[in-house]
Amino acid sequence: MKNRKLFCNPICQLHGDRPLFGTHGLPVLDAPGGENLPAYHWNCFVFLLSIFVAMTNQIHKWSHTYFGIPSWVVLLQDLHVILPRRHHRIHHVAPHETYFCITTGWLNYPLELLQFWPFLERAIESAFACRPRSDDLRWAQKKA
Ligand SMILES: [Zn+2]
Repeated sequence: MKNRKLFCNPICQLHGDRPLFGTHGLPVLDAPGGENLPAYHWNCFVFLLSIFVAMTNQIHKWSHTYFGIPSWVVLLQDLHVILPRRHHRIHHVAPHETYFCITTGWLNYPLELLQFWPFLERAIESAFACRPRSDDLRWAQKKA
């Protein structure tokens, strides 16, 4: 019961006395134009972001799976609607410095043309004095 209070209290503060879940089983979000519009926008953002992250995780897993995935997933991969296996393979070839987009892969080629990732790595390196992939061999040598 205590854990439920810890979880629900912050949500109840956002939603007031209204129920958290509607009759459709989905979380109740404040209506646009309501009294708490910033909270509504934040709730929508977090809700959609969590769906996107979960889908990306599954799509990335499928791009590493060669047997036993549903045929409709293979069709979506072949049509490049979701990340194709062959496309994602480029990322996993040493030195692992490109094709980081793992949901659809649509931005990988344009970002490659713009040299986005080397630019970002230089910016991070200058800000944090940390060389990209300098510890890769340390990860490979770790034993379970
Ligand atoms: Zn991968």
